[in-house]
Amino acid sequence: MSAQQLAEKRLEKYRDILLKEKEETQQIINAINEIQKRGAKNGNGDLSAYSQHQADLGSDTDESERRVYILEKELNNIKMINSALKRIYDKTYGICEICGDYIPANRLKIIPYAKYCIKCKEEDEQRKRKRI
Ligand SMILES: [Zn+2]
Repeated sequence: MSAQQLAEKRLEKYRDILLKEKEETQQIINAINEIQKRGAKNGNGDLSAYSQHQADLGSDTDESERRVYILEKELNNIKMINSALKRIYDKTYGICEICGDYIPANRLKIIPYAKYCIKCKEEDEQRKRKRI
């Protein structure tokens, strides 16, 4: 097997992992949307009820806020997965977007949509922390 074939095989493997992860993420999003919709049907959907909820931050609101938080996180994951899939098609997958080095395979195993190597990721986080 040539080096190129080997590289393509590797990309295919990551593409499968990403597609599976995307499917699972989509299922979580669908499930949350379903719960939110049901909540709306139970009469919590109109805006007056909503503002009432806001006033007396009950446990219902906590639940709903938690769902919104998860939903946002999962939607963000989908975005990351989609952009990783795009990098697979562009054959730039596994290369750090900042320094151009290869991202180690054991890092991609944990975070298949990683776009930075560990060094650049840490520097990026340090920069963000300083800004706060
Ligand atoms: Zn890097």
